[in-house]
Formats: sequence, C-alpha cells, structure tokens
Amino acid sequence: MRHRIAVIGSGPGGLTFARVLHCHGYPVTVLERDTAPDARPPGGTLDLHEGLGQLALEKAGLLAEFLALSRPEGQAMRILDPTGAVLRDWRPRPDDRANPEIDRGDLRDLLLGPLDVRWGQHVTEVVPGEEGALVRLADGTQEPFDLVVGADGAWSRTRRAVSAVTPHYTGVTFVETSLDDVDTRHPDLARLIGDGSLAVYGVNRGLVAQRNSGGHVKVYAQFRAPLDRYASLDGADAEAVRTRLLDLFDGWAAPVLDLLHHGTTFVHRPLHVLPAPHTWPHVTGVTLLGDAAHLMPPLGAGANLAMLEGAELAEAIATGPGELDDAVRAFEERMWERAGRWGRVTTAGLERLVSPDPAEALVLFDEVQPS
Ligand SMILES: Cc1cc2nc3c(=O)[nH]c(=O)nc-3n(C[C@H](O)[C@H](O)[C@H](O)COP(=O)(O)OP(=O)(O)OC[C@H]3O[C@@H](n4cnc5c(N)ncnc54)[C@H](O)[C@@H]3O)c2cc1C
Repeated sequence: MRHRIAVIGSGPGGLTFARVLHCHGYPVTVLERDTAPDARPPGGTLDLHEGLGQLALEKAGLLAEFLALSRPEGQAMRILDPTGAVLRDWRPRPDDRANPEIDRGDLRDLLLGPLDVRWGQHVTEVVPGEEGALVRLADGTQEPFDLVVGADGAWSRTRRAVSAVTPHYTGVTFVETSLDDVDTRHPDLARLIGDGSLAVYGVNRGLVAQRNSGGHVKVYAQFRAPLDRYASLDGADAEAVRTRLLDLFDGWAAPVLDLLHHGTTFVHRPLHVLPAPHTWPHVTGVTLLGDAAHLMPPLGAGANLAMLEGAELAEAIATGPGELDDAVRAFEERMWERAGRWGRVTTAGLERLVSPDPAEALVLFDEVQPS
C-alpha cells in the first residue's frame, strides 16, 4: 500500500528524502516556504563526507553526478595565526574524495532533478491525529497525510508536534560576508586563501574564508559574545558592521584583515543548537530529520546527517517489510544515537575552535586531518 507522505522543507535533508522515495517510484509531497528554488541566496559551500552525504547520494543514484560537480581541491585547509604566520597548510591528494566541496545551489539542483516541489507553501502547524497528521498552511488550507516529515530546519514548525524543546544560543556568533571574483579582483587574498579554506584563530575569535566555485568566497568572522551585543546591527549597513568587526580583530595582520575590507553586505548568524541528544516520545504520523531534529554547531556534519537520514528513512518506507510506523520508530532510534554523538562532537569542537586558547584549534585540526 502506498501511504500519503509529506515532507516539509526542501533543504538537503528534505530533498534527499523525496529523491530516494522518487527513485523507488514512491509518491511524496514536498512543501516549501520559499516561492522558488532561487528565491534566496543558497548559502556557502558544503563538504560531503564519504560515509554520510556521499552515501546518501549513492542511495539516490546521484553519486557519480556529485563527484563530477564537486571540488576535491576544495578540501585544502590552511591555518594562520593572527600575525599571518602559516601554522598548517594541508592539501588533498588529487584522488582524495573523502570530503569534496559542492556549492549549495549545485547540490539543490542535483537533488531537485525531476521532483515536483510545491513552492510558496508556508506550513504553520502540524497536528497529529488518530491516523496520521494534518498540515496547516499560512493560506488557511489544510491537508491530511499518513506521515509528515519535518525537514524544516533550525526553527522548525513541525518540531512543536513532537517536542517542546527549542534551540538555545551557544555563546558564539558568526558574521558572514562574501567576496566575488576573488582571483581577478583580490589576487592577494586569492593566494592567501588557496584552493579551499583558510582559518585564522585568535583568543575567543577567528576569521574563516571558504572558496566556493566561480571565484566566490564566503568569509565568516567568528567570536564569543552575548546574544544581544550585535543584534541591533543592520547587515546592510556594511560600513557600520565593518567598523565593529575591525575593532574586534584589532591588531591582526593587515593581509588577514583584508578579508573584512571588501564585503558589501553582512549577515548576523548567532549559532543556536538543540540539546544532544534531542529525543521525544514517538508520535505516530509525524517525525523530524536534519536540523529540525538535531541542530548542532556548523562543523561540517549538519547537511551530511540530514541527507543520510533522508535517504535511510525513504529506503525504510519504500522497501521495509513492516508497517509505516515501525519503520519510523526504527529510523528515530538510529537517528538519535548517531546525531547525539555528532552533536556532542561538534559542540566540543566549537568550544575548541572559538576558544580562550587558540592552540586548541590546531590540536583539533591535527586530530581530525589525515597527515
Ligand atoms: C555557516 C554554516 C556553514 C555550514 N557548513 C556545513 C558543511 O560544510 N557541511 C555540513 O554538513 N553542514 C554544514 N552546515 C549545516 C547545514 O547547513 C545544515 O545542517 C543543513 O542545511 C540542514 O539541512 P536541513 O535539510 O535539515 O535544513 P535546511 O537546510 O535548513 O532546510 C530547511 C528548509 O525548510 C524550509 N522551511 C522552513 N520552515 C518552513 C515552513 N514553516 N514551511 C515550509 N518550509 C519551511 C526552509 O525554507 C528550507 O528550505 C553549515 C551551517 C552554517 C550556518
């Protein structure tokens, strides 16, 4: 029997879930708040790990296409201290496919393929019932499903149907800006950044630059601060934000600070997380995956986990022998265990990267990076 299944959200998790179901010829409704795939800038680059995001793409039949689109050279990582001295300069071998990078927009388009997403559908509430759950939309309509999967990110509306827990602030804020055409317009910065990522760590703060395709670079100023300290800053008032950031990184070497000199807009990203593990008493007809289930610090795991969870849940529904509810229960147990582990690892990692002792970041790098 084919169940009526909806997934809320067309991020990496929701799209992978829908795409794997589609591969198995299983119908699924994708409801997305954005009015079109390109309604918002897609965000920075993602590294997809061999046993996580890449495994999910394999289940979706998309691994070869991903490997053709991705940037293995983007795995390169250079670490400096605030004087500009190079502390580590790691480059992948040409055949290294452990964690290649892909632009989020390219990943979205790859996953979208033939999927029929219902754009502009803002879900306001998911109400579990006797048989499945009701999805309520901002336009006043509502629709019943046998299973609703909340893949609606950090501030999930679906989460309220299963858990009263909300994300809390980590004490670390990112302020994001970007550089375009870096090789042509800022060749010195292009050389400094290299093919992948550049990270500069100081006391309780850091500057990170990540190369995307087409000479686009995302720059993240990272620091510990009370949640409200920068809340009133208008990201569009680039000069005001730049002045505050340059104050914060006062004394750092000029070539490093140049990362902050060219951005025309800034985005304020206070980092929030859910407790790890975040579990809930099972609710028939509703489940969560990805950031909706286990928001954690952005240390390279969130999208990977969301995708693998999407693929695993879809496979269990399409090919599992048992009842729909049994498949969801088994999925939740597995997700909680794995995501809880990653949540603890990434939370500890954030403490060490944005730390009173910048040497901690180097130790962490040496622990996780192959020599
Ligand atoms: C700066 C930064 C860098 C990162 N780098 C990495 C990395 O390198 N590797 C990695 O694995 N992870 C990374 N992450 C984490 C990663 O971005 C997230 O974990 C991932 O996007 C989660 O995917 P998701 O599908 O669960 O949710 P999301 O990507 O947040 O997608 C949720 C979707 O749901 C939609 N939606 C939300 N509410 C509603 C609603 N009410 N109704 C309908 N639709 C709705 C949204 O519009 C969105 O399309 C990074 C995060 C940040 C902030």
